[in-house]
Amino acid sequence: MKRIAILGSTGSIGTQTLDVISKKEDLEVTGLAAGSNITMLEQQIRQFHPKLAAVGDEKKAQELRERVADTDCKILGGMEGLMEMAAMEASDILVTAIVGMIGIRPTIAGIQAGKDIALANKETLVTAGHIIMPMAKKYGVRILPVDSEHSAIFQALNGESSRAVHKLLITASGGPFRGRKREELENIQVEDALKHPNWSMGQKITIDSATLVNKGLEVMEAKWLFDMDLDHIQVVVQPQSVIHSMIEFVDGGIIAQLGTPDMRLPIQYALYGGERRFLDGERLDFAALGSITFENPDMETFRGLPLAMQASRIGGSMPTVFNAANEKAVELFLKRKIRFLDIYTIIEETMNAHSVIKNPGVEEIITLEQETYRKIESRW
Ligand code: NAD
Ligand code: MG
Repeated sequence: MKRIAILGSTGSIGTQTLDVISKKEDLEVTGLAAGSNITMLEQQIRQFHPKLAAVGDEKKAQELRERVADTDCKILGGMEGLMEMAAMEASDILVTAIVGMIGIRPTIAGIQAGKDIALANKETLVTAGHIIMPMAKKYGVRILPVDSEHSAIFQALNGESSRAVHKLLITASGGPFRGRKREELENIQVEDALKHPNWSMGQKITIDSATLVNKGLEVMEAKWLFDMDLDHIQVVVQPQSVIHSMIEFVDGGIIAQLGTPDMRLPIQYALYGGERRFLDGERLDFAALGSITFENPDMETFRGLPLAMQASRIGGSMPTVFNAANEKAVELFLKRKIRFLDIYTIIEETMNAHSVIKNPGVEEIITLEQETYRKIESRW
């Protein structure tokens, strides 16, 4: 029996994780955590019977405590609650499906308690990869990627020595605005940006896919997960989202992982620590698909990718500033306070104004995140 705790159980990845667990006899839910959707969390508690549940919002935690008083589930609140849930004794694996840098501290709590991490939360490795990777090694825990691209690389790597890897080829759909030029993006509305051609995901990551910031975050994440420098990570646009990523080996051979766009596969693969199990769902039909096409990303129009790569090369605290500036900009865009292209302007201006701290600690990263938010709020 694998005992699983999920941070962010009410979101896109969280609910798909529960769907996978509900169909397997040897997977069990021990802990759940969400931000504020206690109606869904209550339903999940009644269906999956976890021992612990945590709610980010303290007031909502109290409300949930009253609602589920008839069950055996203990309810915790706030950051302390998320961290306690992440480190709970009764679990083996922690799924980090929470959105944003708020995921860093609970992830660390999970690692220090010896939990394997099924990692969906990108922000953790992007901003604190230099802390998380050595820590995982020290505590002997595995970081199992959930993101489809990193899972594809993890799957393609199966059995190969990391010395045999020459290059990672990360695929991208190109997002809903692929093929458009900068002038054509000036009047993009929130609704247009929320329409992803192939994947159904949370709002923030859907906007990040439209700006290619998401691909940038994935490159930064891949660098840490697979210990590769940026010169050996290439982004390839593959609009049908059938190839989820590839590895080019030193002999020129390439291994790719293909499948229909369904996050339940990478989620299940991570939950079983890299073992394959039956999964229902649509299979890839090559004849119906007809063709798979490729192109280079348009780095001039979609500045999210080159800005991310620049932040990653500079390193230290710059990836935190890149990520925090993007989080705030996406929030402002979703609230219709800025225009689509302003997202790039905000990221670039904020990065240019930052003096880099080498090797920032967790507290420095979190302080810098808040400072970055405040700076942008006062200016935009
Ligand atoms: P989502 O917005 O659908 O869900 C986010 C979850 O985080 C929700 O359960 C929410 O309650 C929880 N949360 C938010 N703030 C919280 C807080 N303060 N305290 C406790 N919980 C809080 O997001 P998502 O699309 O599921 O993405 C989650 C993470 O996984 C992101 O980092 C994203 O980049 C990554 N990811 C998602 C996908 C995808 O297909 N959706 C693919 C790859 C990676
Ligand atoms: Mg992805």
